[in-house]
Amino acid sequence: SLSDRLGGVFDRLRGRGALTEADVRTAMREVRVALLEADVALPVARKFVDDVTEKAVGQNVLRSVTPGQQVVKIVNDALVEMLGADEAELELNVAPPAIVMVVGLQGSGKTTTTAKIARRLKGRDGKKVMMASLDVNRPAAQEQLATLGGQVEVATLPIIAGQQPVDIARRALSAAKLQGFDVLMLDTAGRLHVDQALMDEMKAVADIARPQEILLVVDSLTGQDAVNVAQNFSDQVPLTGVVLTRMDGDARGGAALSMRAVTGKPIKFAGTGEKLDALEAFHPSRVAGRILGMGDVVSLVERAAESIQQEDAERMATRLAKGQFDMNDLRGQLAQMKRMGGLGALAGMMPGMKKAQAAMNAVPGSDKVLVHMDAIIGSMTVKERSKPDLINAKRKIRIAKGSGTTVQEVNRLLKMHQEMSTAMKKIKKMGGIKGMLSMLG
Ligand code: GDP
Ligand code: MG
Repeated sequence: SLSDRLGGVFDRLRGRGALTEADVRTAMREVRVALLEADVALPVARKFVDDVTEKAVGQNVLRSVTPGQQVVKIVNDALVEMLGADEAELELNVAPPAIVMVVGLQGSGKTTTTAKIARRLKGRDGKKVMMASLDVNRPAAQEQLATLGGQVEVATLPIIAGQQPVDIARRALSAAKLQGFDVLMLDTAGRLHVDQALMDEMKAVADIARPQEILLVVDSLTGQDAVNVAQNFSDQVPLTGVVLTRMDGDARGGAALSMRAVTGKPIKFAGTGEKLDALEAFHPSRVAGRILGMGDVVSLVERAAESIQQEDAERMATRLAKGQFDMNDLRGQLAQMKRMGGLGALAGMMPGMKKAQAAMNAVPGSDKVLVHMDAIIGSMTVKERSKPDLINAKRKIRIAKGSGTTVQEVNRLLKMHQEMSTAMKKIKKMGGIKGMLSMLG
Protein backbone atom coordinates (compact mmCIF):
# COMPACT_ATOMS: atom_id res chain seq x y z
CA SER A 1 0.00 0.00 0.00
CA LEU A 2 0.98 3.64 -0.22
CA SER A 3 1.75 3.88 3.47
CA ASP A 4 4.20 0.97 3.26
CA ARG A 5 5.93 2.56 0.32
CA LEU A 6 6.19 5.93 2.01
CA GLY A 7 7.53 4.19 5.10
CA GLY A 8 10.30 2.74 2.98
CA VAL A 9 11.14 6.02 1.34
CA PHE A 10 11.39 7.76 4.68
CA ASP A 11 13.00 5.21 6.93
CA ARG A 12 16.42 6.69 6.44
CA LEU A 13 15.18 10.17 7.25
CA ARG A 14 14.32 9.35 10.85
CA GLY A 15 15.32 11.82 13.48
CA ARG A 16 15.28 14.89 11.28
CA GLY A 17 13.54 17.97 12.52
CA ALA A 18 11.41 19.02 9.61
CA LEU A 19 10.41 17.76 6.19
CA THR A 20 12.59 19.22 3.46
CA GLU A 21 11.37 19.93 -0.02
CA ALA A 22 13.51 17.09 -1.38
CA ASP A 23 12.00 14.63 1.15
CA VAL A 24 8.53 15.67 0.25
CA ARG A 25 9.14 15.49 -3.49
CA THR A 26 10.40 11.93 -3.12
CA ALA A 27 7.29 10.98 -1.19
CA MET A 28 5.03 12.76 -3.63
CA ARG A 29 6.24 10.64 -6.50
CA GLU A 30 4.83 7.68 -4.58
CA VAL A 31 1.64 9.57 -3.83
CA ARG A 32 1.19 10.39 -7.51
CA VAL A 33 1.56 6.74 -8.50
CA ALA A 34 -0.90 5.71 -5.81
CA LEU A 35 -3.44 8.26 -7.00
CA LEU A 36 -3.16 7.06 -10.57
CA GLU A 37 -3.55 3.47 -9.42
CA ALA A 38 -6.70 4.58 -7.61
CA ASP A 39 -7.96 5.92 -10.96
CA VAL A 40 -7.65 9.58 -10.15
CA ALA A 41 -7.45 11.48 -13.43
CA LEU A 42 -3.92 12.59 -14.32
CA PRO A 43 -4.40 16.38 -14.26
CA VAL A 44 -6.21 16.08 -10.94
CA ALA A 45 -3.44 13.95 -9.45
CA ARG A 46 -0.86 16.45 -10.64
CA LYS A 47 -2.58 19.43 -9.13
CA PHE A 48 -3.24 17.59 -5.90
CA VAL A 49 0.41 16.62 -5.53
CA ASP A 50 1.53 20.22 -6.13
CA ASP A 51 -0.84 21.54 -3.49
CA VAL A 52 0.18 18.97 -0.92
CA THR A 53 3.89 19.46 -1.56
CA GLU A 54 3.48 23.10 -0.72
CA LYS A 55 1.66 22.24 2.48
CA ALA A 56 4.05 19.56 3.66
CA VAL A 57 7.40 21.24 3.19
CA GLY A 58 8.72 22.57 6.47
CA GLN A 59 6.26 20.75 8.71
CA ASN A 60 7.80 19.40 11.89
CA VAL A 61 8.20 15.67 12.08
CA LEU A 62 6.84 14.06 15.20
CA ARG A 63 9.54 12.01 16.80
CA SER A 64 7.34 9.10 17.55
CA VAL A 65 6.23 8.37 14.01
CA THR A 66 8.11 8.05 10.80
CA PRO A 67 8.14 11.03 8.45
CA GLY A 68 6.51 8.71 5.92
CA GLN A 69 3.50 8.25 8.15
CA GLN A 70 3.33 11.94 8.71
CA VAL A 71 3.28 12.58 4.99
CA VAL A 72 0.51 9.99 4.70
CA LYS A 73 -1.45 11.96 7.25
CA ILE A 74 -0.90 15.23 5.41
CA VAL A 75 -2.00 13.57 2.18
CA ASN A 76 -5.00 12.00 3.87
CA ASP A 77 -6.12 15.30 5.38
CA ALA A 78 -5.74 17.01 2.03
CA LEU A 79 -7.80 14.27 0.35
CA VAL A 80 -10.58 14.58 2.90
CA GLU A 81 -10.59 18.33 2.53
CA MET A 82 -10.70 18.06 -1.23
CA LEU A 83 -13.48 15.47 -1.16
CA GLY A 84 -15.51 17.83 1.03
CA ALA A 85 -15.43 17.60 4.78
CA ASP A 86 -19.12 18.21 5.40
CA GLU A 87 -22.06 16.09 4.46
CA ALA A 88 -23.87 17.87 1.65
CA GLU A 89 -27.66 17.67 1.62
CA LEU A 90 -30.13 18.46 -1.13
CA GLU A 91 -31.24 22.09 -1.07
CA LEU A 92 -34.96 21.99 -1.60
CA ASN A 93 -36.18 24.98 0.38
CA VAL A 94 -38.32 26.62 -2.29
CA ALA A 95 -41.99 27.03 -2.96
CA PRO A 96 -43.08 23.54 -4.04
CA PRO A 97 -42.55 21.73 -6.23
CA ALA A 98 -38.77 21.67 -5.86
CA ILE A 99 -37.23 20.19 -8.99
CA VAL A 100 -34.40 17.67 -8.94
CA MET A 101 -32.93 16.77 -12.31
CA VAL A 102 -30.70 13.74 -12.72
CA VAL A 103 -28.15 13.59 -15.54
CA GLY A 104 -25.27 11.34 -16.56
CA LEU A 105 -23.90 8.73 -18.92
CA GLN A 106 -25.97 5.78 -20.03
CA GLY A 107 -25.92 2.98 -17.47
CA SER A 108 -24.39 5.14 -14.75
CA GLY A 109 -27.36 4.49 -12.51
CA LYS A 110 -29.55 7.56 -13.06
CA THR A 111 -32.91 5.79 -13.00
CA THR A 112 -32.04 3.68 -9.97
CA THR A 113 -30.66 6.74 -8.17
CA THR A 114 -33.78 8.77 -8.99
CA ALA A 115 -35.92 6.12 -7.28
CA LYS A 116 -33.51 5.83 -4.35
CA ILE A 117 -33.54 9.57 -3.71
CA ALA A 118 -37.34 9.71 -4.07
CA ARG A 119 -37.63 6.90 -1.52
CA ARG A 120 -35.34 8.74 0.88
CA LEU A 121 -37.16 12.07 0.50
CA LYS A 122 -40.46 10.38 1.12
CA GLY A 123 -39.43 8.14 4.00
CA ARG A 124 -36.86 10.22 5.81
CA ASP A 125 -38.12 13.71 5.09
CA GLY A 126 -41.84 13.02 4.70
CA LYS A 127 -42.00 14.71 1.30
CA LYS A 128 -44.65 14.09 -1.30
CA VAL A 129 -42.62 13.10 -4.34
CA MET A 130 -43.36 12.54 -8.02
CA MET A 131 -40.95 11.13 -10.59
CA ALA A 132 -40.97 11.53 -14.36
CA SER A 133 -38.77 9.82 -16.92
CA LEU A 134 -37.70 11.95 -19.88
CA ASP A 135 -35.81 9.07 -21.45
CA VAL A 136 -37.38 8.45 -24.85
CA ASN A 137 -34.19 6.95 -26.26
CA ARG A 138 -33.91 3.72 -24.41
CA PRO A 139 -36.80 1.31 -25.01
CA ALA A 140 -38.99 0.86 -21.94
CA ALA A 141 -36.97 3.41 -19.93
CA GLN A 142 -40.15 5.15 -18.78
CA GLU A 143 -41.68 1.83 -17.77
CA GLN A 144 -38.55 1.03 -15.76
CA LEU A 145 -39.05 4.16 -13.67
CA ALA A 146 -42.74 3.40 -13.24
CA THR A 147 -41.86 -0.07 -11.93
CA LEU A 148 -39.35 1.36 -9.47
CA GLY A 149 -41.96 3.94 -8.42
CA GLY A 150 -44.31 1.09 -7.62
CA GLN A 151 -41.65 -0.57 -5.48
CA VAL A 152 -40.92 2.51 -3.39
CA GLU A 153 -44.54 3.69 -3.48
CA VAL A 154 -43.76 6.98 -5.15
CA ALA A 155 -45.99 8.44 -7.88
CA THR A 156 -44.76 8.55 -11.47
CA LEU A 157 -46.02 10.73 -14.28
CA PRO A 158 -48.38 8.73 -16.54
CA ILE A 159 -46.65 7.74 -19.77
CA ILE A 160 -47.87 9.22 -23.06
CA ALA A 161 -46.30 7.40 -25.98
CA GLY A 162 -44.43 9.55 -28.51
CA GLN A 163 -44.11 12.65 -26.37
CA GLN A 164 -40.72 14.42 -26.51
CA PRO A 165 -38.59 15.17 -23.41
CA VAL A 166 -39.24 18.91 -23.25
CA ASP A 167 -42.99 18.33 -23.50
CA ILE A 168 -42.84 15.60 -20.87
CA ALA A 169 -41.00 18.02 -18.58
CA ARG A 170 -43.71 20.68 -19.10
CA ARG A 171 -46.45 18.19 -18.39
CA ALA A 172 -44.63 16.91 -15.27
CA LEU A 173 -44.24 20.45 -13.95
CA SER A 174 -47.85 21.33 -14.23
CA ALA A 175 -48.98 17.96 -12.84
CA ALA A 176 -46.67 18.36 -9.84
CA LYS A 177 -47.99 21.90 -9.23
CA LEU A 178 -51.63 20.98 -9.63
CA GLN A 179 -51.41 17.87 -7.48
CA GLY A 180 -49.44 19.54 -4.72
CA PHE A 181 -46.21 17.56 -4.84
CA ASP A 182 -43.29 18.83 -2.75
CA VAL A 183 -40.63 17.45 -5.05
CA LEU A 184 -40.52 16.54 -8.73
CA MET A 185 -37.68 14.32 -9.87
CA LEU A 186 -36.72 14.35 -13.51
CA ASP A 187 -34.82 11.29 -14.77
CA THR A 188 -33.16 12.00 -18.12
CA ALA A 189 -31.84 9.99 -21.04
CA GLY A 190 -28.27 8.85 -20.79
CA ARG A 191 -25.39 9.61 -23.07
CA LEU A 192 -22.90 7.06 -24.25
CA HIS A 193 -20.36 9.78 -24.71
CA VAL A 194 -20.58 13.42 -25.62
CA ASP A 195 -23.51 13.54 -27.94
CA GLN A 196 -24.44 17.12 -28.72
CA ALA A 197 -28.07 16.39 -29.59
CA LEU A 198 -28.64 14.81 -26.22
CA MET A 199 -26.71 17.56 -24.47
CA ASP A 200 -28.93 20.15 -26.16
CA GLU A 201 -32.00 18.25 -25.07
CA MET A 202 -30.74 18.20 -21.49
CA LYS A 203 -30.09 21.95 -21.60
CA ALA A 204 -33.57 22.63 -23.01
CA VAL A 205 -35.14 20.64 -20.20
CA ALA A 206 -33.05 22.48 -17.61
CA ASP A 207 -34.15 25.83 -19.11
CA ILE A 208 -37.81 24.92 -18.77
CA ALA A 209 -37.72 23.14 -15.42
CA ARG A 210 -35.22 25.47 -13.69
CA PRO A 211 -34.23 22.75 -11.24
CA GLN A 212 -33.03 23.52 -7.72
CA GLU A 213 -30.74 20.53 -7.99
CA ILE A 214 -29.00 19.11 -11.04
CA LEU A 215 -27.23 15.96 -9.94
CA LEU A 216 -24.59 14.31 -12.08
CA VAL A 217 -24.67 10.54 -11.57
CA VAL A 218 -21.29 8.89 -12.10
CA ASP A 219 -20.28 5.27 -11.91
CA SER A 220 -17.43 5.16 -9.41
CA LEU A 221 -15.79 2.46 -11.54
CA THR A 222 -15.24 5.06 -14.25
CA GLY A 223 -11.50 5.42 -14.33
CA GLN A 224 -9.39 8.03 -16.03
CA ASP A 225 -12.37 9.07 -18.15
CA ALA A 226 -14.23 10.47 -15.15
CA VAL A 227 -12.62 13.82 -15.60
CA ASN A 228 -13.92 14.18 -19.18
CA VAL A 229 -17.41 13.16 -18.13
CA ALA A 230 -17.43 15.70 -15.34
CA GLN A 231 -16.04 18.43 -17.56
CA ASN A 232 -18.56 17.87 -20.34
CA PHE A 233 -21.62 17.87 -18.15
CA SER A 234 -20.36 20.68 -15.99
CA ASP A 235 -19.79 22.83 -19.11
CA GLN A 236 -23.33 22.28 -20.36
CA VAL A 237 -25.54 22.58 -17.29
CA PRO A 238 -25.15 24.21 -13.87
CA LEU A 239 -24.57 21.13 -11.74
CA THR A 240 -25.29 21.35 -8.01
CA GLY A 241 -23.91 18.02 -6.92
CA VAL A 242 -22.64 14.57 -7.79
CA VAL A 243 -23.86 11.08 -6.93
CA LEU A 244 -21.35 8.25 -7.11
CA THR A 245 -22.86 4.85 -7.81
CA ARG A 246 -21.45 1.34 -7.41
CA MET A 247 -19.47 2.28 -4.34
CA ASP A 248 -20.29 -1.27 -3.23
CA GLY A 249 -17.96 -2.55 -5.94
CA ASP A 250 -14.20 -2.50 -5.94
CA ALA A 251 -13.95 1.12 -6.98
CA ARG A 252 -10.73 2.62 -5.81
CA GLY A 253 -12.21 6.01 -5.13
CA GLY A 254 -10.32 7.97 -7.73
CA ALA A 255 -13.44 9.03 -9.59
CA ALA A 256 -14.65 10.82 -6.49
CA LEU A 257 -11.57 12.98 -6.37
CA SER A 258 -11.71 13.74 -10.07
CA MET A 259 -15.40 14.66 -9.90
CA ARG A 260 -14.92 16.99 -7.05
CA ALA A 261 -11.85 18.62 -8.54
CA VAL A 262 -13.39 19.26 -11.95
CA THR A 263 -16.93 20.26 -11.01
CA GLY A 264 -16.14 21.91 -7.68
CA LYS A 265 -19.51 20.52 -6.56
CA PRO A 266 -20.12 18.39 -3.49
CA ILE A 267 -20.67 14.66 -3.72
CA LYS A 268 -24.10 14.39 -2.17
CA PHE A 269 -24.72 10.66 -2.13
CA ALA A 270 -23.07 7.31 -2.68
CA GLY A 271 -24.96 4.40 -4.23
CA THR A 272 -23.97 1.18 -2.51
CA GLY A 273 -26.02 -1.52 -4.21
CA GLU A 274 -28.80 -2.37 -6.61
CA LYS A 275 -31.49 -2.35 -3.94
CA LEU A 276 -33.47 0.82 -3.54
CA ASP A 277 -32.40 1.43 0.04
CA ALA A 278 -28.73 1.29 -0.96
CA LEU A 279 -28.08 5.04 -0.88
CA GLU A 280 -25.84 6.70 1.68
CA ALA A 281 -24.47 10.08 2.54
CA PHE A 282 -20.99 10.40 1.10
CA HIS A 283 -18.12 9.84 3.57
CA PRO A 284 -14.94 11.62 2.43
CA SER A 285 -12.71 9.97 5.03
CA ARG A 286 -13.67 6.47 3.94
CA VAL A 287 -12.92 7.28 0.34
CA ALA A 288 -9.63 8.93 1.27
CA GLY A 289 -8.75 5.74 3.11
CA ARG A 290 -9.61 3.70 0.07
CA ILE A 291 -7.45 5.83 -2.15
CA LEU A 292 -4.47 5.52 0.15
CA GLY A 293 -5.19 1.97 1.23
CA MET A 294 -3.64 2.79 4.52
CA GLY A 295 -5.78 1.18 7.17
CA ASP A 296 -5.24 2.64 10.57
CA VAL A 297 -1.94 4.38 10.05
CA VAL A 298 -3.59 7.76 10.20
CA SER A 299 -5.26 7.13 13.51
CA LEU A 300 -1.97 5.84 14.87
CA VAL A 301 -0.29 9.06 13.88
CA GLU A 302 -3.08 11.07 15.45
CA ARG A 303 -2.91 9.21 18.70
CA ALA A 304 0.82 9.56 18.84
CA ALA A 305 0.51 13.29 18.28
CA GLU A 306 -2.00 13.59 21.10
CA SER A 307 -0.25 11.50 23.65
CA ILE A 308 3.41 12.26 23.36
CA GLN A 309 4.47 15.30 25.24
CA GLN A 310 7.03 17.25 23.35
CA GLU A 311 9.44 17.65 26.28
CA ASP A 312 9.43 13.94 26.99
CA ALA A 313 10.28 13.33 23.42
CA GLU A 314 13.09 15.87 23.40
CA ARG A 315 14.60 14.54 26.58
CA MET A 316 14.32 11.01 25.35
CA ALA A 317 15.97 11.85 22.07
CA THR A 318 18.96 13.43 23.80
CA ARG A 319 19.44 10.43 26.06
CA LEU A 320 19.07 7.94 23.28
CA ALA A 321 21.60 9.85 21.25
CA LYS A 322 24.04 9.09 24.05
CA GLY A 323 22.93 5.47 24.23
CA GLN A 324 21.43 5.94 27.71
CA PHE A 325 18.33 4.08 28.79
CA ASP A 326 17.52 3.64 32.46
CA MET A 327 14.41 2.70 34.42
CA ASN A 328 13.09 6.26 34.23
CA ASP A 329 13.24 6.06 30.48
CA LEU A 330 11.53 2.70 30.50
CA ARG A 331 8.83 4.10 32.72
CA GLY A 332 8.28 6.99 30.33
CA GLN A 333 7.97 4.58 27.44
CA LEU A 334 5.49 2.41 29.32
CA ALA A 335 3.37 5.43 30.14
CA GLN A 336 3.37 6.40 26.48
CA MET A 337 2.22 2.95 25.52
CA LYS A 338 -0.56 3.10 28.04
CA ARG A 339 -1.76 6.46 26.75
CA MET A 340 -1.86 5.04 23.27
CA GLY A 341 -4.28 2.32 24.28
CA GLY A 342 -2.06 -0.43 25.62
CA LEU A 343 0.23 -2.89 23.97
CA GLY A 344 -2.46 -4.82 22.12
CA ALA A 345 -4.12 -1.75 20.62
CA LEU A 346 -0.81 -0.33 19.53
CA ALA A 347 0.40 -3.54 17.98
CA GLY A 348 -2.86 -3.87 16.07
CA MET A 349 -2.31 -0.55 14.37
CA MET A 350 1.21 -1.18 13.18
CA PRO A 351 1.59 -2.83 9.80
CA GLY A 352 2.94 -6.34 10.22
CA MET A 353 2.21 -6.39 13.94
CA LYS A 354 -0.85 -8.61 13.89
CA LYS A 355 1.14 -11.51 15.32
CA ALA A 356 2.46 -9.44 18.16
CA GLN A 357 -1.05 -8.27 18.91
CA ALA A 358 -2.28 -11.83 19.11
CA ALA A 359 0.54 -12.63 21.52
CA MET A 360 -0.33 -9.64 23.70
CA ASN A 361 -3.94 -10.59 23.82
CA ALA A 362 -3.02 -14.17 24.70
CA VAL A 363 -1.37 -12.95 27.92
CA PRO A 364 -4.16 -12.86 30.47
CA GLY A 365 -4.77 -9.29 31.62
CA SER A 366 -2.19 -7.88 29.23
CA ASP A 367 -3.17 -4.33 30.08
CA LYS A 368 -2.46 -5.15 33.72
CA VAL A 369 1.09 -5.93 32.72
CA LEU A 370 1.72 -2.25 32.05
CA VAL A 371 0.27 -1.28 35.42
CA HIS A 372 2.42 -3.87 37.21
CA MET A 373 5.54 -2.74 35.43
CA ASP A 374 4.89 0.81 36.46
CA ALA A 375 4.36 -0.27 40.08
CA ILE A 376 7.63 -2.21 40.04
CA ILE A 377 9.60 0.79 38.84
CA GLY A 378 7.74 2.91 41.40
CA SER A 379 9.06 0.67 44.19
CA MET A 380 12.68 1.15 43.17
CA THR A 381 14.88 3.71 44.85
CA VAL A 382 16.13 6.69 42.87
CA LYS A 383 19.54 5.04 42.68
CA GLU A 384 18.14 1.73 41.48
CA ARG A 385 16.24 3.46 38.76
CA SER A 386 19.24 5.16 37.27
CA LYS A 387 21.56 2.18 37.90
CA PRO A 388 19.50 -1.00 37.56
CA ASP A 389 22.67 -3.08 37.89
CA LEU A 390 22.44 -2.47 41.65
CA ILE A 391 19.34 -4.64 41.89
CA ASN A 392 20.46 -7.90 43.50
CA ALA A 393 18.35 -10.78 44.85
CA LYS A 394 17.63 -9.06 48.15
CA ARG A 395 16.53 -5.84 46.48
CA LYS A 396 14.33 -7.81 44.09
CA ILE A 397 12.40 -9.29 47.01
CA ARG A 398 11.91 -5.83 48.50
CA ILE A 399 10.74 -4.38 45.19
CA ALA A 400 8.32 -7.24 44.58
CA LYS A 401 6.79 -6.78 48.01
CA GLY A 402 6.60 -3.02 47.66
CA SER A 403 4.85 -3.23 44.31
CA GLY A 404 2.55 -6.12 45.19
CA THR A 405 4.09 -8.26 42.45
CA THR A 406 6.39 -11.28 42.35
CA VAL A 407 10.13 -11.69 41.94
CA GLN A 408 9.48 -13.32 38.58
CA GLU A 409 7.71 -10.19 37.42
CA VAL A 410 10.57 -8.04 38.65
CA ASN A 411 12.97 -10.29 36.75
CA ARG A 412 10.90 -10.02 33.63
CA LEU A 413 10.98 -6.25 33.79
CA LEU A 414 14.72 -6.19 34.39
CA LYS A 415 15.24 -8.50 31.45
CA MET A 416 13.04 -6.30 29.27
CA HIS A 417 14.99 -3.26 30.34
CA GLN A 418 18.28 -5.04 29.63
CA GLU A 419 17.20 -6.01 26.14
CA MET A 420 15.87 -2.58 25.38
CA SER A 421 18.92 -0.85 26.68
CA THR A 422 21.12 -3.02 24.45
CA ALA A 423 18.92 -2.37 21.45
CA MET A 424 18.78 1.33 22.17
CA LYS A 425 22.54 1.51 22.16
CA LYS A 426 22.65 -0.20 18.82
CA ILE A 427 20.08 2.00 17.21
CA LYS A 428 20.83 5.18 19.02
CA LYS A 429 18.82 7.52 16.98
CA MET A 430 15.77 5.36 16.52
CA GLY A 431 13.81 6.71 19.44
CA GLY A 432 10.32 6.26 20.72
CA ILE A 433 7.65 3.74 20.51
CA LYS A 434 8.61 2.10 17.26
CA GLY A 435 11.89 0.91 18.69
CA MET A 436 10.09 -0.93 21.41
CA LEU A 437 7.55 -2.40 19.12
CA SER A 438 10.10 -3.72 16.68
CA MET A 439 11.57 -5.72 19.55
CA LEU A 440 8.24 -7.02 20.71
CA GLY A 441 7.50 -8.18 17.17
P1 GDP B 1 -29.20 4.61 -16.13
O1 GDP B 1 -29.02 4.10 -17.51
O2 GDP B 1 -28.19 5.67 -15.81
O3 GDP B 1 -30.58 5.05 -15.84
O4 GDP B 1 -28.84 3.38 -15.14
P2 GDP B 1 -29.80 2.44 -14.32
O5 GDP B 1 -30.39 3.18 -13.15
O6 GDP B 1 -30.76 1.78 -15.23
O7 GDP B 1 -28.76 1.39 -13.72
C1 GDP B 1 -27.98 0.53 -14.52
C2 GDP B 1 -27.61 -0.69 -13.69
O8 GDP B 1 -26.78 -0.31 -12.61
C3 GDP B 1 -28.82 -1.38 -13.06
O9 GDP B 1 -28.65 -2.77 -13.16
C4 GDP B 1 -28.75 -0.97 -11.60
O10 GDP B 1 -29.32 -1.93 -10.75
C5 GDP B 1 -27.27 -0.83 -11.38
N1 GDP B 1 -26.93 0.10 -10.30
C6 GDP B 1 -27.30 1.39 -10.14
N2 GDP B 1 -26.75 1.93 -9.02
C7 GDP B 1 -26.02 0.95 -8.45
C8 GDP B 1 -25.18 0.88 -7.27
O11 GDP B 1 -25.00 1.83 -6.51
N3 GDP B 1 -24.57 -0.31 -7.02
C9 GDP B 1 -24.73 -1.39 -7.84
N4 GDP B 1 -24.10 -2.51 -7.53
N5 GDP B 1 -25.47 -1.35 -8.95
C10 GDP B 1 -26.12 -0.21 -9.27
MG1 MG C 1 -32.20 5.33 -17.05
